[in-house]
Amino acid sequence: MPKIIQLSSHVANLIAAGEVVERPASVVKELLENAVDAGASKITVEIRDGGMIFLRVTDNGCGMEAEDAKTAFLRHATSKLRTAEDLAAISTMGFRGEALAAIASVSRIDLMTKTAGTVSGTSLHLEAGAITEESEVGCPEGTTIIVRDLFYNTPARMKFMKSDTVEGGRVSAAVQLQALAHPEVAFTFIRDGKQILSTPGTGELDAAVYCVYGRDSARMAKVDSRWDGYSLTGFVSKPTDARPSRNMQTFFVNDRPVRSKLLMSALEEAYRNQLMVGKFPACVLHLRLPANAVDVNVHPAKTEVKFLSEKAVFDCVHYGVLAALNKQTDRPQVQFKSAPQPAVPAYKPAQPAAPKQQTFFRTMTAEEYKNFSTAVKEAPKPQPAAAVATAAAVERQQNLPLRENVCIPTPPPVTPPAAEKEPEQTVMPMPQQIPWRMVGELYNSYIIVEQGEDAFLIDKHAAHERILFEKLKANQEAITPQLLLSPIPVQLRADAAAELLNNTELLAELGFEIEEFGDSTVLLRQISMDLSPAAAAEAAESIAADLLSGRREKKDTVRDEILHTVACKAAIKAGWLNDPKELLALVKQVMEREDLKYCPHGRPICVSLSKKQLEKQFKRT
Ligand code: ADP
Ligand code: MG
Repeated sequence: MPKIIQLSSHVANLIAAGEVVERPASVVKELLENAVDAGASKITVEIRDGGMIFLRVTDNGCGMEAEDAKTAFLRHATSKLRTAEDLAAISTMGFRGEALAAIASVSRIDLMTKTAGTVSGTSLHLEAGAITEESEVGCPEGTTIIVRDLFYNTPARMKFMKSDTVEGGRVSAAVQLQALAHPEVAFTFIRDGKQILSTPGTGELDAAVYCVYGRDSARMAKVDSRWDGYSLTGFVSKPTDARPSRNMQTFFVNDRPVRSKLLMSALEEAYRNQLMVGKFPACVLHLRLPANAVDVNVHPAKTEVKFLSEKAVFDCVHYGVLAALNKQTDRPQVQFKSAPQPAVPAYKPAQPAAPKQQTFFRTMTAEEYKNFSTAVKEAPKPQPAAAVATAAAVERQQNLPLRENVCIPTPPPVTPPAAEKEPEQTVMPMPQQIPWRMVGELYNSYIIVEQGEDAFLIDKHAAHERILFEKLKANQEAITPQLLLSPIPVQLRADAAAELLNNTELLAELGFEIEEFGDSTVLLRQISMDLSPAAAAEAAESIAADLLSGRREKKDTVRDEILHTVACKAAIKAGWLNDPKELLALVKQVMEREDLKYCPHGRPICVSLSKKQLEKQFKRT
């Protein structure tokens, strides 16, 4: 008996559904693409309870004749493609003729559709892909599709669904994406009876971006570049507004949302040397190129594309974004010594934390030390005009407590008077009785420590991050939350917001109280004690990225990842001016621990430089 049979169309559709229809958001994506292809200028999406039970898309597009409406649900039924040659130059969003068949095979569908110039429209009801009712109805021009009980006949798929909040958040993100792809269409999204997105449909991308990303989007730089046959338009964040994840990078190729490593690296290349490690630009970029220069038929959900010339695409994005960034007049300018002095004061980058005092940190000469001691004894009043000759003078001028800022050479060249409290705090006996001293700091980033025949450079951010992380992890049961006087609203991508809201319990354990505050905005009412309110919004975004990054299978891994994020955001940063006392406290913790060799993300905390190595460098050996 032959073993090979051709699968029934129902089974084939179920298999196709596995690729095209993953969750309510993918259904919405397909239905929105159909509505756009139908030439709609107004599209409304409504879901209830995350879209699993009820999901409706209404458009005012061209509609379908009765016969077409029925054919539309057959596999490989499409009006967008006739011949194989057509595949080479696709200008519509859909073309595979799979979506309706696939969606219908795993749900119950009601369709109402009417074309222009006819009196009545067509109404169909389908169960698991089969038409069970058909009638003529009166309805407006366009198409309405209601999808109910998604995956009711495929329980295996049902099991993969997340909570309503998460699925609803993903639907919201899918609508936002289409709204950004098609600013010429007015999109409305209603979730559980509440309208949460409404774009004007004027064709202005700014307006659509504003509706999706909110007020912050006004700070983005406008991209508008054209080369023969290629164009790049949209908005990119300024280097100073970089995000902690790539979640806010949105690319469209010929109006189709795509994921592409090529586009991502071309974008980021334009920011080279302008972003800190772990920071990413945000963007909404439309790349348009001749239809035959791109192959969109490489992925069932059409989210991936192949370019005829990767180099042309890379250059187009790279230079287009670069041009936009260079147009920004308020960008920090590097001032070179030889450059003519500007009439206005030179740009001074803002410090994230208001530095309390000037870093003045070096070993004094014996004579300076003597002056210093005398200065301390005489305890003079602050003298604004005092010459900046010694460390003491600098401190005095700034009306700061004396001594704290000064590192004393070992051994001290002069014994300070008995009345003096000896500034010995930089010389710490190690358990093994090897004293060390903090020599100073390089580039406001690396603390120099000398110990015996060794010197260490400690990355202050990495060290602080690691120490905070361990502290947080050790106290996990008893993380102290701080209630915020005024709650902080954080606008996120819709799926990120939903992910946070779906993990409120876990976040509460970590000191965060998060509330829903309109679609894709959450309200932070309480944050971990270790975090400053200023860093809270960014931390929330990073945590959402942690949660979204797919590591959510193991709760402990996620918890650690979040603790890393909190530690990273709460830690002092390279480039900050820190009080030497703070630095000293940090060094103490590092030096007392043998194991502090790696920070949570695996970067080294401490590198050493032995006297021998130096002597070799100087050819002394
Ligand atoms: P594809 O979009 O790849 O052609 P679909 O299964 O998504 O395949 O749709 C099949 C056909 O049904 C489309 O080619 C189109 O002719 C018709 N159709 C689907 N949705 C609509 C709509 N909202 N308005 C008008 N026609 C539609
Ligand atoms: Mg389609």
